[in-house]
Amino acid sequence: MDVDVMVIGIGGIGSAAVREVAARGASVIGIDRFPPGHARGSSHGGSRVFRRAYFEDAAYVRLLDNASVGWDQLESATGRSLIHRCGVLVAGLSGSTTVGASFDSAMQHGLRVERLDRDAIHSRWPIFDLPENAEGLYEPDAGFVDPESGIQAHLELARRDGAETRWPFDVTSIESHGDSVTVRSQRDTIRARRAIVTAGAWAKPLLLQAGCPLEITPHRKVIAWARPSPSRSADTSAGRCPCWLVDDGGALGRGVLYGIPWWPGQRGPDGMKFGFHGPGTPVDPDRFDRTVEEPEIEWFRAAIDRCLPGVFERPHAAKTCLYTMSSDEHFIVDRLPGAESISIAAGLSGHGYKFAPALGKALAELALDGESSLPIDFLSIDRLVSR
Ligand SMILES: Cc1cc2nc3c(=O)[nH]c(=O)nc-3n(C[C@H](O)[C@H](O)[C@H](O)COP(=O)(O)OP(=O)(O)OC[C@H]3O[C@@H](n4cnc5c(N)ncnc54)[C@H](O)[C@@H]3O)c2cc1C
Repeated sequence: MDVDVMVIGIGGIGSAAVREVAARGASVIGIDRFPPGHARGSSHGGSRVFRRAYFEDAAYVRLLDNASVGWDQLESATGRSLIHRCGVLVAGLSGSTTVGASFDSAMQHGLRVERLDRDAIHSRWPIFDLPENAEGLYEPDAGFVDPESGIQAHLELARRDGAETRWPFDVTSIESHGDSVTVRSQRDTIRARRAIVTAGAWAKPLLLQAGCPLEITPHRKVIAWARPSPSRSADTSAGRCPCWLVDDGGALGRGVLYGIPWWPGQRGPDGMKFGFHGPGTPVDPDRFDRTVEEPEIEWFRAAIDRCLPGVFERPHAAKTCLYTMSSDEHFIVDRLPGAESISIAAGLSGHGYKFAPALGKALAELALDGESSLPIDFLSIDRLVSR
């Protein structure tokens, strides 16, 4: 046996799993096709919203509590700045389920939040000019995390605890033998007692080889950056502006528009980052068009102008990224039925990165103990396939 645990894919979640396995004293190797922090998967672009008032399902909140503590600990252990608690505003039209479900999950779990009407939002952050019947929920302890730095931080601590990392290592086959797992690339073979598959948009064929066909589909998504006009620069920085999401019931057309304020030390393009949260276009992750076309920039410009009129110039930079959608848009975190030496986190459906420290811990526990102390039952494979 080469190692106790191998982690296949050391992007956003795999890097956290390597760190957690190493922290528990087991021998671990993390492997990837590409170098850590690369821009071909789902964990690049400089920032990811972190919020706990969770409209997707209140069942995620306890995991988010664990992740929140994990981010703080990771910061102090590495001296890196990873989580920026500038607050998050979730806004929508009166009766919006996004705002309502965020509020319900906050109440259920005793989170600190404020409900604001349209005028209160405007007077606190004058850059927003939302429709008359808009309302919002503000969560002051929320904010955003830096995914590329998070990956480096997790791997740095993992290596301190003896973890090995290797790339390029493109896993072309995975085989479970009951009490061990073998993976192969064109040139190499690795055998481990346990495997953790965190292969993001590429997970489906690996899981199929391991005997677990799961409906997970990579979707092409676009993110864009726009500079504020010089007089609005301070108002759009993380010092004064929260992260925000506006659900206008579909009028903006491409999902829930969100923005992440700029901050000193931001990597990549300057300005506020924008995206539409929701399904994108299904693609083959190895063969899709990464060029962002003019009409896509125009959707951003029009949507930004509707919510924050006159504040931003036309977006000056844009990139593509991949969401990996499960059939119900909830994560799949479990051991594989019939191949229990393999644990997975898959189908994170565009909202997984904020959970990285918690999912890393859950995966390490699944691999080493066979079960997790964290509340992940609602993310089991059982809900999607019958064992
Ligand atoms: C535009 C965009 C915005 C988002 N916004 C948010 C947000 O605001 N908040 C939030 O919480 N989440 C957000 N998400 C979702 C979040 O970023 C992802 O859920 C998370 O980063 C996925 O991490 P991962 O480890 O599963 O995938 P990745 O980070 O892509 O890692 C998978 C790794 O596996 C490797 N790999 C794959 N196949 C193989 C193989 N055969 N052999 C070896 N290595 C392999 C890949 O090279 C890759 O490095 C967003 C995602 C996108 C795209």
